[in-house]
Amino acid sequence: MNLLIALFVSLTLEPFQPYAAAGTNVPEDIMKLHRQAIVFDAHCDTAMRLVGDAPIDLGERHADGHIDLPRALDGGLDAQIFAVWVSPQMPESLATERARAMIDALGEQARKNSGRMEIALRGADVRRIVKEGKLAAIVGIEGGHLIGEDLDALGDYYARGARCMTLTWMNTNRWADASDDTATWGGLTEFGKSVVREMDRLGMIVDCAHVSEKTFFDVLATTKSPVLISHSCMRALTDIPRNVSDDVLRGVRKNGGVVCVNFFPGFLDKAYNDRVTVLWAEYRARANELAPQYGGDAGKAWHSLEGEFEKRIAEIPPVPLSRLIDHIDHAVKVAGIDHVGLGSDFDGISTCPVGLEDVSKLPLITEELVKRGYSDKDIRKILGGNLLRLVEKTMR
Ligand SMILES: [Zn+2]
Repeated sequence: MNLLIALFVSLTLEPFQPYAAAGTNVPEDIMKLHRQAIVFDAHCDTAMRLVGDAPIDLGERHADGHIDLPRALDGGLDAQIFAVWVSPQMPESLATERARAMIDALGEQARKNSGRMEIALRGADVRRIVKEGKLAAIVGIEGGHLIGEDLDALGDYYARGARCMTLTWMNTNRWADASDDTATWGGLTEFGKSVVREMDRLGMIVDCAHVSEKTFFDVLATTKSPVLISHSCMRALTDIPRNVSDDVLRGVRKNGGVVCVNFFPGFLDKAYNDRVTVLWAEYRARANELAPQYGGDAGKAWHSLEGEFEKRIAEIPPVPLSRLIDHIDHAVKVAGIDHVGLGSDFDGISTCPVGLEDVSKLPLITEELVKRGYSDKDIRKILGGNLLRLVEKTMR
């Protein structure tokens, strides 16, 4: 602090609070609003970085990736649902082992950084943990394929601390249809409905991101709890199956749930998505062609092309931050101000909107919302108030 500022602060008789975020030029009054709000993000894939060959420590600041505790503090993030995702292509027993390792790793991070992070097991924990100045972490399972067709497996994840499950990932599993895959069951099977009822009974958040529209409405007809859509964008603005329709938004409103907007440029913008899709197809084909050189391992072949692929992705004209706010606006218009939140998908997406490169830049969203004329009260709802309400109702 320089001398003039110190003098000014002493004259205002207010305790000095450093609201300015590192790396953003967000004005102090907006930073104050942002810091005082509970900022709660509904989805990230950071848990993937905690396992494998080179696991990271969340307590350290990293130059790559999107979330760690120092940058979460810079960005004013208070609470986060950490997804535990394992590829549906992995054999079931290995997948279970990996999912458990990811849950353990999250717990280990919370122990290691106990002054800065804690796993929330009940809704009431979140507010308490945030008050203590720590990041409240909720463990979520991404993809019902991880429980196979076994309610005990669901109970096992619950016992290990999971409090949320995304019913499908991109794949239709044995009991629920996904938006990006074949509609095999016409929504939820009878077993799928029993999964939802069991989640209600246990006090787990039912997450409908990735599910087909029919699955979503089957969930609404089955659950007694407010549902979450943790990381999806608006189909009215980007017409792809992965995004949610206005019918779904109206369903969320009626159910009292919350839809959380994904930051991925491809979901925010159709032109961007088309270019990414073409590149994906091109590089997948090339990986397959190269596979024989890697002993038939297409994954290894893909890895050899990854750097080049990322360069090509970076050549696509980026999507402005205002586009993310457009999706929030639309969700607010159709679902209502009490039913919208943030679902970054950080560490699960390859690129971000301009300026929003990692969690430390979250205050830029608050600044944009102020520019669009949202009241402080409504901004607090979008930043996390709505999601907190849902979590307090479901995680009993
Ligand atoms: Zn996802």
